[in-house]
Order: sequence, then structure tokens, then C-alpha cells
Amino acid sequence: MGNRIYLDNAATTPMDSRVVEVMTSMMNKVWANPSSIHQDGVAARSNIEEARLKIASLFKAEPSEIFFTSGATESINLLIKSVIDGLKISRIITSQLEHPAVLESVRNIALEKNVPVTFIPFDIDGHINLSFLEQTLGQNPNSLVALMHANNELGNLLPLKKVANLCHENGAYFFSDTVQSVGKFPMDFSQCFLDFAVGSAHKFHGAKGIGFLYIRKGIKINPLLFGGAQERNMRAGTENLPAIVGMAEALRIAYSEMPEITKHLTFLKEFLVNRIKDELPFVEFNGDINGIHSIINLALPLTHFKKMIIFSLDVAGISVSGGSACSSGVMNISHVIKALGRDKDYVPVRISFSKYNSLDDVNRLVDLLIKYGKKMV
Ligand code: PLP
Repeated sequence: MGNRIYLDNAATTPMDSRVVEVMTSMMNKVWANPSSIHQDGVAARSNIEEARLKIASLFKAEPSEIFFTSGATESINLLIKSVIDGLKISRIITSQLEHPAVLESVRNIALEKNVPVTFIPFDIDGHINLSFLEQTLGQNPNSLVALMHANNELGNLLPLKKVANLCHENGAYFFSDTVQSVGKFPMDFSQCFLDFAVGSAHKFHGAKGIGFLYIRKGIKINPLLFGGAQERNMRAGTENLPAIVGMAEALRIAYSEMPEITKHLTFLKEFLVNRIKDELPFVEFNGDINGIHSIINLALPLTHFKKMIIFSLDVAGISVSGGSACSSGVMNISHVIKALGRDKDYVPVRISFSKYNSLDDVNRLVDLLIKYGKKMV
């Protein structure tokens, strides 16, 4: 991408060349069907199981708790659609700040199965109202709570342990969409905070089209896809072996580099926030600025910036986002920003970092914001 600056890592991340290397080697050498019973098939199977073991040990989970899927969207659909009947869920509790993969799965299954849904309110900064959650849980045992760990647009972090305790004290199941935090925090699934979690390799420098669903030991749910017996009958279809092995490598790298990367991204985010506060005092922030170190969402006032600021930045060589990636190619106002009531007077600009970003990238972005912001004063 030449000289461009990429600050849209919550949408997807560039692949780590070590992951590409591992995947290329798999594609060249280990192409047999892992379900075949000949030696080539057995060798392919052992690569998949080794990857599962590596991933499970990083999460302090058991290999049998990890199911490979085509990504987080599939994992979320599989989970939300299956648990309703499987676990006799009588209510779904979620929030309007969730990713569309959760919101749309919930909407569809709620309609199909006639399950009531409660949307938990939140404050102006997107903090989930935990007292409301506790109250709702008290009145509705056997609920499914679906609340994400790190919000993909705002960066807000949910106190996982606290929410898990509330859920479990009240006989509810807890699913957290952990897509934005996997590989950024040392998850410890052995603590049993979560009943279900998900991950997508392309958010941590792996390939697109590969992810996993974590299901806590002892919980049984039904598959979404039928066919072969892959993934212990939970996900039919020939496994994407190179991508699975690549995801294990991407996660290994993420864990081995986590302290330095966390420090680097925290520094970049703090530097950006401080420059904005000092040099563009009329700019506000959407969400909690103390959220995950990889995401910050600016609220640029329309009194100072044009609505098309994201396109201007793009033309100037900087990729940022107005919210989540727009699947239709059309820029829609983000449902999260709308839900916060901040869609009228501000343009949201989400900046999301990866280990490949530098201080220079941040400086170039702020310099351009100063240039474009000043134009309107
Ligand atoms: N959940 C969150 C929080 C996300 O950020 C994303 C991707 O943007 C997804 C789910 C869906 O992931 P995928 O597109 O890999 O299926």
C-alpha cells in the first residue's frame, strides 16, 4: 500500500509475515484432507490438533473447548442460534452497542423462537448499566447474556469478571464477543468467567475466514451446519488447515510480544489523545478514552470539520474508519454512534492501532486534522 498510513486495525490487521510463511508451507506440503484415514490425512489431522492444543494452552482452556469456524460471525451465529433450544434459554440480554453479528443473530432467533430480548441501557460514554443488568437477571433466571468485551467502535471494556459473577449468581449463561480483545489481553478461560467466547484470526495478524468458538466444558449445544463429523460434529465441512495452523502461529506471536505491543499501543494512544486535547480542544471523544489500548474514537464537531473528513484523510493517504467496516460499500452512520446520540453534531472517526504503527503515523494524522479543522474556523 505504498506510503499510506493504515489506522483501521479494528476492521482488519495486516498479516504477520511469519504467519504467511507458516500458511504457505502448509499449503505447499500439507494439503491432504484431515478426515482421510491414510497417512497423508493423519498427518494433516495432527497439524490441526497441534494448532488446537497450542491455542487452548495459551487460553488455559482444554482443547475440547475450542471449535474452529470460518470466523467470528459464524461462531456468533452458531452459538446464539443453538443455545436457545439447547439450553432452554428464556430471555436474551444484550445491548445496542454490540456488533451486528450479535444484534442480527439475536433479532433473528428471537423472532423465530419467540424469545424476549432485553437491551441493557448505557451512559453517554457507552458504559453498560450493571445495576440494570443485575435487576434483569434477578427477574429472569436461565437467560443468555451477550455483552462484548472490547467494543469494536469505542474501545470500551466490559468488566468481564464482574459481569460473569452476576450471570452465574443468577443462573444465566454469559457469552462475550471477545473478537477485539483476543491476542491483546492474556485471556484465562480456566477461571470460568466465560461460558462462550469467540475470536477471528484476521484481527490479530492472521488470515481472514478463520476463527474459533470457545464453549466451556460441560455445556453442550447443537451444530448450525450439517454434513461431515468435523469439529466433533459441531462444524461440518473440510477444515481450512493452513488458516487454522496460521491462527495458532498468529496467537503464539501475539502472546509472545504482548507486553511490548501493549506498551507501544498505549503510548501511541496516549500521545494521540494528548495532542488532540492540546491542539484541537474542540474535539471530543466517543466512548471511554481509558478503554482498550488499540482503539480510540474521535467526535469531530461539524462546527469545525466537514462531514467528508474520512474521505479527505483517505485522499491524503490515511485509512481510518467512521465506525465498523461498511459491508455494503456505502458509508452509513454507525448504529453505535447513533445509539449514543452523537450522530447529529459530530463526525465519528475511529482510529485503531496495530504493532505496525509508529509515532510518525500519529503525528501525520493529527497534523492533517489540524489542517482540515482549521479550514472551517
Ligand atoms: N465482533 C466484533 C466485535 C468485530 O469487531 C467483528 C469484526 O469486525 C466481528 C464480530 C465479526 O468478525 P468476522 O468478520 O471475522 O466474522
